[in-house]
Amino acid sequence: MTSTVPAIDLRAAYRAQKDELDAAIARVTGSGWYVLGPEVTAFEEEFAAYVGAPYAIGVGSGTEALHVALVACGVKPGDAVFTVSHTAVATVAAVELAGATPILVDVDPASYTMSARSLEEAVGAVQRAGTPIPRAIVPVHLYGHPADLDAIGEIARRHGLLVVEDCAQAHGARLNGRRVGAFGRASAWSFYPTKNLGALGDGGMVVTTDPDVAEQARLIRQYGWETRYVSSMPGWNTRLDELQAAVLRVKLARLELSNAHRRDVARLYARGLAGTALELPRVRAGAEPVWHQYVVESPARDALRDALLARGIGVQVHYPLAVHQQPAYWKRLPRIVSLTATESAAQRVLSLPMFPEIADSQVEAVCAAVADALSPSGHLVA
Ligand SMILES: *Cc1c(COP(=O)(O)O)cnc(C)c1O
Repeated sequence: MTSTVPAIDLRAAYRAQKDELDAAIARVTGSGWYVLGPEVTAFEEEFAAYVGAPYAIGVGSGTEALHVALVACGVKPGDAVFTVSHTAVATVAAVELAGATPILVDVDPASYTMSARSLEEAVGAVQRAGTPIPRAIVPVHLYGHPADLDAIGEIARRHGLLVVEDCAQAHGARLNGRRVGAFGRASAWSFYPTKNLGALGDGGMVVTTDPDVAEQARLIRQYGWETRYVSSMPGWNTRLDELQAAVLRVKLARLELSNAHRRDVARLYARGLAGTALELPRVRAGAEPVWHQYVVESPARDALRDALLARGIGVQVHYPLAVHQQPAYWKRLPRIVSLTATESAAQRVLSLPMFPEIADSQVEAVCAAVADALSPSGHLVA
């Protein structure tokens, strides 16, 4: 039958840069400096230049990047932060960590990113209610596809809201020729190993165009220390370590190449799956996605997932439950607008294997397995 194709292969990513990674790790282990040092500083400069923003502040994870970014931007208890429910729970968790109230907005069914129309409706409803106070918008560039920042930015300006981009899945994605991450007041990045730019452990980054936000974020990540042992404001500990920064510098040098490989894989899938009953990903005009995931849609998603897993294809569902459907959230979060497209996506989306080192023959094996599963003899029941 078909060969086994994993959902992702992190060992292949390590092998692709083994010598440089091993050298970077040895450089740090021998340096005697392990947390917030010269590697972190160099990586912050290199990453800020890559994104096209003046400031980058390394932190402990993507969740913490969003938490720190929101607090550094002045978000506080009593504030409303508008974000989506079709995302990693971390997006919404970070809003609550900042003490604010998440207001969940529907997604655009074509891009799975924040619907500007739903956002407008939610902002209006919260304004009329008078509480919580509308403060910020967190669009998520899900699956590597840039959110509709033109329309979202226009709504933000009209209502005096700040924008903090969740870029955890979109390292290198562009909108209208500009990389995401410098459209709003700040952006939050994750370097979890499976992301397009992944460390060998946890890591995150706050990027900002605002010197005051950069200064606040720098203080917050280390106990509010202005200088060692002197806290000028309350902070906590969410630092990036030297090993991860050194590893990420090596990986950043290859990011454009690995994103180009993902683009090639997406093209192969589009060709190989054309004519099947699957709905294939759509790319909005002006958007250059980085294909963190290749997500297809089927009304018989669960049966198709099982059929592909049975054929040795590592498919995944991102995400089987929207955040407002999770046990931790569903009774607590305010319901302001309809989340119809969000709930439909949770039932229909399926992520096919996607990683830069996947072989063309593996992509072809996935396409063949899909065709087989969807054929009359494929035993796929809707
Ligand atoms: C991964 C991810 C996060 C959280 O990042 P961690 O580094 O795992 O804390 C936040 N938002 C989105 C959209 C993500 O994919």
